[in-house]
Amino acid sequence: MADCLFCRIVSKKIPADVVAESPEALAFRDINPQAPVHVLVIPKEHIAGVLDLDKGRSETLSEMMSMAQDVARKEGIDRTGFRLVFNCGADAGQAVDHLHLHCLGKRALAWPPG
Ligand code: AMP
Ligand code: ZN
Repeated sequence: MADCLFCRIVSKKIPADVVAESPEALAFRDINPQAPVHVLVIPKEHIAGVLDLDKGRSETLSEMMSMAQDVARKEGIDRTGFRLVFNCGADAGQAVDHLHLHCLGKRALAWPPG
């Protein structure tokens, strides 16, 4: 989608600090990090959000989870702990309508979240 921010990152029209890439998914550092490690994992294909991730897309989700595991290991938060978050819709504060998995760590994360 030409007007989607994360599609533009996938097509390299907007620069990003990429930490992992596969044919199906991309991981890059959040521009406004909420923790010392804050990486976004996205599918390269445009999927608007969690509610658009139907059963036929289970491989996409599996690829994203696999990449999140790689990111956790690379960033050294696999042992200390980390949080994976999908914001979905207005109440969760979803700002970008391209599916993305937040991967946060390297500090103690409060629970419940705000
Ligand atoms: P959400 O609120 O779940 O939709 O998260 C969107 C995230 O995208 C926010 O944490 C933003 O800081 C992040 N973001 C927005 N623009 C960029 C960008 N150009 N590069 C990296 N991260 C971005
Ligand atoms: Zn998109």
